[in-house]
Amino acid sequence: MARIVMKFGGTSVADLDRIRNAAQRIRAEAEAGHEVAVVVSAMAGVTNSMVSLVSDAAVLADLREYDVVVSSGEQVTAGLLAIVLQDLGVSARSWLGWQIPIRCDDSHGSARIEDIAVEEMERRFGEGQVAVVAGFQGVDSQGRIATLGRGGSDTSAVALAAALAAERCDIYTDVDGVYTTDPRIVAKARKLDKITYEEMLEMASQGAKVLQTRSVEMAMKHHVRIQVRSSFEPGPGTLVVDEEEIVEQAVVSGIAYSRDEAKVTLLRVLDRPGVAAKIFGPLAEAAINVDMIVQNISAEAERTDLTFTVSKADLERAEAVLRSNQEELGFAELLADPNVVKVSVIGVGMRSHAGVAQQMFKALADRGINIQVISTSEIKVSVLIAEEYTELALRGLHTAYGLDAA
Ligand code: ADP
Ligand code: ASP
Ligand code: MG
Repeated sequence: MARIVMKFGGTSVADLDRIRNAAQRIRAEAEAGHEVAVVVSAMAGVTNSMVSLVSDAAVLADLREYDVVVSSGEQVTAGLLAIVLQDLGVSARSWLGWQIPIRCDDSHGSARIEDIAVEEMERRFGEGQVAVVAGFQGVDSQGRIATLGRGGSDTSAVALAAALAAERCDIYTDVDGVYTTDPRIVAKARKLDKITYEEMLEMASQGAKVLQTRSVEMAMKHHVRIQVRSSFEPGPGTLVVDEEEIVEQAVVSGIAYSRDEAKVTLLRVLDRPGVAAKIFGPLAEAAINVDMIVQNISAEAERTDLTFTVSKADLERAEAVLRSNQEELGFAELLADPNVVKVSVIGVGMRSHAGVAQQMFKALADRGINIQVISTSEIKVSVLIAEEYTELALRGLHTAYGLDAA
């Protein structure tokens, strides 16, 4: 007998038939004698439409109310799945974040889980009950609903697996594992049997949304065994493992992309000590994350041009915050460009191999793709390019690094 966490993403619970399909898989595990906690996402598309409703209501909506609205989809799927399980003769109940409770900090919209009380759930495991948990949500110090950032049900699942000391955390989704790059864009992408935590962390943080970044961080910290697998097909998926478990390591193991990028350029900013702090301070206060940054000497003396990226969803707010401080910040012009994509090549083998970045720049140049911003870390190289070249860049790089499936 094992204790397992099974997480079903949006497409895996998109309608009642799919919820029934998930329920069959859950029943099989429960009947095998396992203690099962299930984490569900909202039905595919539901969270997006809630997010649009909120942004139509107000540009700078109160994030506590945003959380009340966008968390609602998971409540529906948790209830429906519990009903379907009961209908199949499986003892089950639904749990909302506040009922467990899953305690979070107060950073609404991207709250961090601090603690999960599992005693009652464990007691009910003893009675053979399956726990169906609404993912993506918890409760803050004031008792208000908080959400964990987009894709956050993965993090709910891993956090629950850690709190329950579960043997496995299976992430059921609409692909049968983690691929060298998004298989929906590159037909020659290859499924990986194993990927290291570190690479998965970079892949996720650079946009491979198959797992939420925080879920990988948490799995790494608490040694949770994640397996990404298909809800629709049987068979093993991809295991996320420690580096020692991988025998032969490629220099580049994966390529990620993120369309969720927008470029902001401030022209002719006064070039004084403290100016960067002044610009990024108000953005941080508005909980806007800044990713890539480049600073250039401006054509005008004692002025500098500053380019950085924010998430597309934050662009409007970033513009509003910067424009309202324009006089104090002393920039002449603000240019905003949402039509960009960040492409990243990732591999722990980069630590010991030179020339990976050069190969990337050449592959892009050969295809006439202009690089707008570059950033690197120990195991990745990222470039910002025009969004229209996403497919061309991904396919070209995938071939250039020898990742294409035979
Ligand atoms: P879920 O709703 O189950 O959480 P997501 O849409 O969040 O599913 O994540 C699965 C999707 O991630 C896949 O459909 C795929 O298009 C995308 N994806 C991006 N990069 C990769 C990758 N390297 N390997 C597998 N899937 C990827
Ligand atoms: N439903 C949430 C979202 O779409 C959480 C998740 O699916 O993981 O972001
Ligand atoms: Mg997801």
